Amino acid sequence: MIFEDEPVPGYPLPILPGHTSPGRFERVLRAGQFAVTSELAPPDSADPEEVYRRARIFDGYVDAINATDGSGANCHMSSLAVCALLTRVGYAPVMQISCRDRNRIAIQGDILGGAAMGVCNLLCLTGDGVQAGDHPQAMPVFDLDSLTLLETARTLRDEHHFLSGRKISCAPRVLLGAAENPFAQPTEFRARRLAKKVNAGAQFIQTQFCYDLPLLKAFMGQVEDLGVLESVFILVGLGPLRSARTAEWIRTHVPGVHIPDAVIKRLAGAADSALEGRNLCIDMIQEIRAIKGVHGVHLMAYRQEEAVADIIARSGVLNGRVPWYPGRAPQVN
Ligand SMILES: Cc1cc2nc3c(=O)[nH]c(=O)nc-3n(C[C@H](O)[C@H](O)[C@H](O)COP(=O)(O)OP(=O)(O)OC[C@H]3O[C@@H](n4cnc5c(N)ncnc54)[C@H](O)[C@@H]3O)c2cc1C
Repeated sequence: MIFEDEPVPGYPLPILPGHTSPGRFERVLRAGQFAVTSELAPPDSADPEEVYRRARIFDGYVDAINATDGSGANCHMSSLAVCALLTRVGYAPVMQISCRDRNRIAIQGDILGGAAMGVCNLLCLTGDGVQAGDHPQAMPVFDLDSLTLLETARTLRDEHHFLSGRKISCAPRVLLGAAENPFAQPTEFRARRLAKKVNAGAQFIQTQFCYDLPLLKAFMGQVEDLGVLESVFILVGLGPLRSARTAEWIRTHVPGVHIPDAVIKRLAGAADSALEGRNLCIDMIQEIRAIKGVHGVHLMAYRQEEAVADIIARSGVLNGRVPWYPGRAPQVN
């Protein structure tokens, strides 16, 4: 027997009143449940089984899986292809779209193609510059940026036409999202940037790694002061840090990632720093879930994907809920 929350590959769920997509991720958010998302690192391979192996590790612990798009400007299997493989078996992917590699003609085509294959969530990004990655000689496109990409996707979805004005016969039913970094300098502009993304169409935000609670609380306060807290679902980015050395390396070399000294000290003083990194995430989750306007957590656990289940299980944020995955026994959520 198939219950209402069960996706059947090829047969989309009905769109509930007040929703813009048939997706389970939007259902979880609008139902007021604490949502969990994680990131799948696309393989350097043409083997679909590598995608499924990387997805299965999250089974039962996440509401949606982000498929990154040339993250760090490095070449991997495309986000669209990863999403197509995931929807084929019923997973709920978030298709990340960066504006670095494709112009508006290609991106609009990908949005329609993704939606046709069952993609219900888009994360609209400007994207990392080519100089950050392994093909610095590549031609950067940036025909659109995150704001104009959001407007483009909203136009396709709500006005049923391309940017050229030409009509489309079936609109993509998608939930639109964007990224934000509460800690990028100048920090006083970050909440305003988020508000601009909401005005351009973002319905959910996934943030960069957050290890500084006072700064995060200040940022959320600014978002509230701007009057957009009720208009967007904010998922706070977190990830397990393997050791003090790794944390030090990340804060020095990864632009925009802010890790306070206290975090590095805690990891350095631990007998098992990898375990401490996961414990830190759990402690952070307990704190952030109490912040007004936080609707979930986005766990980015690059090369430690197996840690996601442990962190989510021990944090208790799912409250006994088991997000759908292929093969899960039917249940009424
Ligand atoms: C959750 C998440 C997922 C991501 N996934 C991808 C991905 O799949 N592919 C990919 O290429 N990139 C990815 N990124 C990186 C992201 O695209 C860059 O960090 C980008 O510079 C800022 O995010 P944005 O794309 O939303 O850009 P926007 O907020 O639109 O910013 C665009 C411009 O604003 C300015 N700006 C923004 N942040 C900074 C900063 N920290 N320092 C200086 N100037 C800044 C710059 O001028 C930048 O070009 C991801 C980031 C996050 C938080």
